Amino acid sequence: METIIVSACLLGDKTRYDGKSNYNPKIELIKENYDIIPICPEVMGGMKIPREPTELKNGLPYSKSGKDVNSYFLRGTKQIINIVKYKHITKAILVEKSPSCGVHQIHNGLFNGGLIDGEGYATKELKNHKVDCYTLDEFIELFLTKKED
Ligand code: SF4
Repeated sequence: METIIVSACLLGDKTRYDGKSNYNPKIELIKENYDIIPICPEVMGGMKIPREPTELKNGLPYSKSGKDVNSYFLRGTKQIINIVKYKHITKAILVEKSPSCGVHQIHNGLFNGGLIDGEGYATKELKNHKVDCYTLDEFIELFLTKKED
């Protein structure tokens, strides 16, 4: 089976800033068809659970109180890139809107709930290393939905 990386919170790990998960039952379909390596760039980088929310400003992560948390994001992302290289991974399923894992949208950096088009910090680096990044629904549609001729 092909090995892919998946945002840990999507699998049910309570790694979000607020101590919750983003579990989606559709992930069980992925587990039946792929070997999965769970990743959480923020926790792997040393951030605690729970923690202050973070948003990207000009591509760099800051906590709600204005603390520069780039060193954590950088450390976690480097670990994930090492896994990708070692295991020859070319696909990732990530969580939309996260400052680390966002695929198409992220929060606007103002901590007011607003969204902008953009990708997360780890997502950007994964793409730079030729890993195709998908939301869960996109992945299912592309790779697990039988197409009728
Ligand atoms: Fe989930 Fe990614 Fe946020 Fe970790 S950094 S909690 S894996 S969305």
